Amino acid sequence: MAHARSHIGIDLGGTHVRCARVDAQGRILAAERRQTSQAGPEAVMRQMADLVGRLREPGTRGVGIGVPGAIDAATGTVLNIPALAGWGHVPLAEAVSRASGLPCLLENDAKAAALGEWRAGAGRGCDNLAYVTVGTGIGGGMIVDGRLIRGIGGLAGEVGHTHVTDSSEPCACGRYGCWQAVASGTALAGRARAAVAAEPSSRIAVLAGGEAVTAFHVAQAAREGDERALALLADFARLLGMGFANVQHCYSPSRIIMGGGMSALFDLLQADMASALRAGLLAGFPPAEILAAELGDDAGLVGAAMIAAEIE
Ligand SMILES: [Zn+2]
Repeated sequence: MAHARSHIGIDLGGTHVRCARVDAQGRILAAERRQTSQAGPEAVMRQMADLVGRLREPGTRGVGIGVPGAIDAATGTVLNIPALAGWGHVPLAEAVSRASGLPCLLENDAKAAALGEWRAGAGRGCDNLAYVTVGTGIGGGMIVDGRLIRGIGGLAGEVGHTHVTDSSEPCACGRYGCWQAVASGTALAGRARAAVAAEPSSRIAVLAGGEAVTAFHVAQAAREGDERALALLADFARLLGMGFANVQHCYSPSRIIMGGGMSALFDLLQADMASALRAGLLAGFPPAEILAAELGDDAGLVGAAMIAAEIE
């Protein structure tokens, strides 16, 4: 009997290396994770080879790796990973391929997640979609005319650093006015902390209970009907919708899929994001449908495996 075909996806993160065996429909069959070794690329590559060895089966055909930084997909080289030291010009695909005997491909992690949602999540059957991950930062991956857009370094669709205002808190990139500086979970938490400082008896402050205020405290207060929290979220949704209009002007998707940690707040944001998108669009652009991602944290893992499936 022929062995069922499968592929291995690896999601390389600053804190964890996650690995899964995935079937042709994008279903995770088995998965494991390790804390990312901080001892440098050689140690992480050994972790990856070990995980692949544990999860592969006779029908496993290849490995795809989602990388949180810039890559050269053609040579399988990591060019730079901001969150991990020592990852300049590392021939990662070749190393994992040599250790496992399986073909291996790299993809930027946001692009891998876009591919995962396209093949197995909220983007199924849609050939023009924008995947936007909203968490501590904002990232993206675009499917245009049925093709994942990559660009040099695999960085096309890096929409979080598009400039949307002349004033903001500093962005993680060191500049001011980036979309992610005003519309990420980090930005929402910062605004909530300022609100709590001005009003220490507010419901948000009570829910935080002396801990650092996060976006999730705001969401919890909003679900209880707290007006301060609802106003913070309405403004946050407006800034997200404004950026979605920029995304639509650039790529003209029919669906915008919101992933990342802030997608847990999707039901609270949906209506205001949609109206800000409509308000920001040039006449003639039918507004994209804004949907929550379906695969959650697994989008990048599934998408990395799908990258491997596509080389066959
Ligand atoms: Zn920036």
